[in-house]
Amino acid sequence: MKSLRTIALKEAQSRISPEVKAPAAKISEFFGVNVFDKKKMKDFLSKEVYEKLVSAIDQGELINLTDANQIAAAMKSWAMGKGATHYTHWFQPLTGTTAEKHDSFFEPSSEGPIEKFAGSALVQQEPDASSFPNGGIRNTFEARGYTAWDPSSPAFIMESKAGKTLCIPTVFVSYTGEALDYKAPLLKALAAMDKAAVDVCQYFDKSITKVNASLGIEQEYFLVDLSMYNARPDLALTGRTLFGHMSAKGQQLEDHYFGSIPERVFTFMVDFENEALKLGIPLKTRHNEVAPSQFECAPIYEEINLAIDHNQLLMDLMEKVALRHNFKVLLHEKPYAGINGSGKHNNWSMITDTGKNLLAPGKTPKNNLMFLTFFVNTIKAVHEHSDLLRASIASVSNDHRLGANEAPPAIISIFLGQQLNEVLDEIEHSRISKKIKEDNALWLGIPKIPQILLDNTDRNRTSPFAFTGNKFELRAVGSSANSAAPMTILNAIVADQLVKFKAEVDKLIKKGEKKDIALLTVIKKYIKESKDIRFEGNGYSQEWADEAEKRGLSNIKTTPKALDAYVSEKSTDLLTRLNIYSKRELHARHDILLENYYKKLQIEARVIGEVANSMIIPATVAYQNSLIENAKGLKELGLDDAALSTPVSIINKLSQHLAIVKNSTDAMLEQRKKVNTIEDTREKAIGYDEKVKSYFDEIRYHADKLEQIVDDSVWPLPKFRELLFMK
Ligand code: ADP
Ligand code: MG
Repeated sequence: MKSLRTIALKEAQSRISPEVKAPAAKISEFFGVNVFDKKKMKDFLSKEVYEKLVSAIDQGELINLTDANQIAAAMKSWAMGKGATHYTHWFQPLTGTTAEKHDSFFEPSSEGPIEKFAGSALVQQEPDASSFPNGGIRNTFEARGYTAWDPSSPAFIMESKAGKTLCIPTVFVSYTGEALDYKAPLLKALAAMDKAAVDVCQYFDKSITKVNASLGIEQEYFLVDLSMYNARPDLALTGRTLFGHMSAKGQQLEDHYFGSIPERVFTFMVDFENEALKLGIPLKTRHNEVAPSQFECAPIYEEINLAIDHNQLLMDLMEKVALRHNFKVLLHEKPYAGINGSGKHNNWSMITDTGKNLLAPGKTPKNNLMFLTFFVNTIKAVHEHSDLLRASIASVSNDHRLGANEAPPAIISIFLGQQLNEVLDEIEHSRISKKIKEDNALWLGIPKIPQILLDNTDRNRTSPFAFTGNKFELRAVGSSANSAAPMTILNAIVADQLVKFKAEVDKLIKKGEKKDIALLTVIKKYIKESKDIRFEGNGYSQEWADEAEKRGLSNIKTTPKALDAYVSEKSTDLLTRLNIYSKRELHARHDILLENYYKKLQIEARVIGEVANSMIIPATVAYQNSLIENAKGLKELGLDDAALSTPVSIINKLSQHLAIVKNSTDAMLEQRKKVNTIEDTREKAIGYDEKVKSYFDEIRYHADKLEQIVDDSVWPLPKFRELLFMK
């Protein structure tokens, strides 16, 4: 029988890409055609309801059921006009992917079958979702959670060959009102940030009534041929290779980064980009990444809630479209040991309804005081709550990446670039003069900030949180993550910081201090207090780990411990005070994340056992037997020990590695059984990390040695060179 590997290799070499054509010559002509956007709302709704819907989108106003009925009818006409037969509430449960439950518009009635979509069905749906993770919040007898419409993210049509579905972005909550998804807490954090930022904006510009966070998400991913993927049980079941020796060529030549995109990949990219553009996802950039077979795409930034919905949708879309091209998209943070992993850089800033980016330095000193206010408050927030931010990016898969000498370390620090560092140092050491006239006061208090900062972006890629000219870039987020988790936390901690800032400034003003001087005084204090989080050097170096320890910064390397920050007194106080999570929700979430952590390790451990026992060991034994035959034959011919030494030494080597693979796999199984009996979720997660996962490297090391010795034609798993370099 031919091995799956042999078949896969053959199939991968004879792929023909499907033909890909854009729906129109210009992107602008088909961008957003599958989105029920403002323009279509206007066409399909009465003026009055349209205006109400717009204020629901922009200002968060509530919509009553009568209006919802009209909106639902409009959505239905539009969607059916485009061929949709079903609708679904689309949501983001804590499994990490997106979820849908489709219902048909079709309904029988006394006058014959009709197509219906009521306002009540638009506003709320029960997804019958008793098996989504809920961390004990929703007992099964309490029945189900429900989804509720989020008008701020427009409905869209998902197309597939077999049919079209109207998707309505929603939050997912339990009947008792607790959030069971990523979107609900994000919306709350955004509301808190909006309010806090608008309050602070009043010092500078009374016309500002709304502040939106903006987000541009760079998405890294790997591609692998579908047949090769299916021939690797580890990839197929865990998203990463648990075995595999690095190929002779890796990324050392750095010839892949920004290199020309292979034709087959390019065709796939264009195909999924077209689909994404139809869904209103403003994809802009595509390129190769550092590792072989690694790529990146990035859209133009958007309002944050939409940006996150779009990223979730994009991940889903990429996977679907990839199958048409016989590719599998790997979104795992570390599919291959020995080469770079994948991240999801989150470019974040705050933008007012007057169009001002609060993190962009301005022309005048007054503008710069405004910039400094938001800039320094962000730094201070991250300094105060770095552990919580670390928790928000923690996952079993991201553990492989953080601190792995190619991704930001697990130590949270901030990179500002030389110019802004100098500005902050200068303010810290300046004396704020009180007698200066209102007009030119700030020239003396604030150093000049160049309006266009040197682009630091590429000068320090080792920082987890870097300022890049007019935005911060959180680089520690994993490629498979839902950005809502870290963005909920980032916006929450900045909101909290801005509230505190305002209280301190107001206190000084009340004492008779001039406004600008009060602002500058608190800014100066914050610069001093948050200094330790700033780091400009090489984040990958051991020196930094040592220095960070001296500064008292945490370096929490694994997820179960990093997650503690979600339920610490400090975080609970902040998140409950801002109404983003209740205590119960925090504990539930903490539990779900821990459970998710050990369950994934459990699966990996099982796959390692299975692949070792049923693929690697048999292949090795088969090869060993052929060597034994060979040795016997040599002996029969009457050759001496010197001639026999070659097969015998290989047989010996194989036996040594085989023994370790077998013994360690058995020992790991024993440990797993023990750890499985632990009741406490956190202890169990730590048990899996320290007692089970600790075997992975040992088993792999010896299995990979075998891969290098055993006859290539009997090795069952596609090798790294085949996974990574086949075009
Ligand atoms: P790089 O690879 O140098 O980090 P990219 O151009 O690939 O840069 O990605 C930068 C991302 O940052 C893009 O999505 C871009 O739209 C986004 N971005 C630019 N300005 C802002 C802003 N003010 N707020 C949020 N994101 C922004
Ligand atoms: Mg970037």
